[in-house]
Amino acid sequence: MSSAEINPPPSFSSDCPAAATTPALRRIEAREALLGGSLLIRRALPNGQKRMIGAWCFLDHAGPADVSAGGGMRVGPHPHTGLQTFSWLIEGEVLHRDSLGYEQILRPGQVNLMTAGRGISHSEESPDVRPDSLQLAQLWIALPDAKRHCEPAFEHHPVLPKHDQDGFTLTLLVGEAFSEKSPAKVYSPLVAIDITTDLAEAKTALPLRPEFEYGVLVLEGSATVCGELVEVGTLLDLGCGRTELTVNVARGARVLLIGGEPFDEEILLWWNYVGRTAEEISEYDRLWNETDHFGEVKNFDGTRLPSPPIPVGLKSPVK
Ligand code: MN
Repeated sequence: MSSAEINPPPSFSSDCPAAATTPALRRIEAREALLGGSLLIRRALPNGQKRMIGAWCFLDHAGPADVSAGGGMRVGPHPHTGLQTFSWLIEGEVLHRDSLGYEQILRPGQVNLMTAGRGISHSEESPDVRPDSLQLAQLWIALPDAKRHCEPAFEHHPVLPKHDQDGFTLTLLVGEAFSEKSPAKVYSPLVAIDITTDLAEAKTALPLRPEFEYGVLVLEGSATVCGELVEVGTLLDLGCGRTELTVNVARGARVLLIGGEPFDEEILLWWNYVGRTAEEISEYDRLWNETDHFGEVKNFDGTRLPSPPIPVGLKSPVK
């Protein structure tokens, strides 16, 4: 995806207090935006109250939306740097194309993981023939300094480890849990688990790592997580220092748990770039506007996305 705001504010990881070392139970409302002109998204990260959870630096929940009309979702070629995009499809289909030449349909239960590294460009759109409804979560993962200039890469994971307990299906998207390991290649200690139940009433518990910080976003229905009732559109910041996640559901739910070791580097996120300084961000944007650094996305029927104007006085994070 591409940051859809007309004048996206820069996100300095240093804008918010450092990650708490103790458990939190803080509700953060996602803000709504339209992507590709018509697709409603809820952006939970970055947020004025919370910039990152581990290396997770961006979290969009899109839909469920009726994409039967016109072209459906259409996000034209746009660049990324210094991050990985992680797409988890819940309903519908998305066609990914990138400047490495990958062309991949993403279907429910599958993950696309694109490593931007030094620079990549991609498009995301509804295929011509498709289901009517679309729902997905897209997250971005900041790459650590030692990896952020790496060569770009793309992975498609059609099958992820699953585990059934207490009437819930847990799908391990990233990291390790229930004696399984996700095939998704990431570069810092992270976890992401989709927790779903079809039962009207159910409850379960998962072990957490006290050195990780965690957050939970409800994707469907509502759930009481660690004692707090949360609904679609609310990110629950759980902080660090917890050893257990409890989930109680009264009328069905799908929740996304994300976590990781607090990211110990200051990042600067603006538009679709993650860097470390304002000068780097300006240079990425010059490369997008003036050179072929980000390659070409072939076969997308449309124009590439222009970047918004860089905010006057974009400053590097305070060290
Ligand atoms: Mn994108």
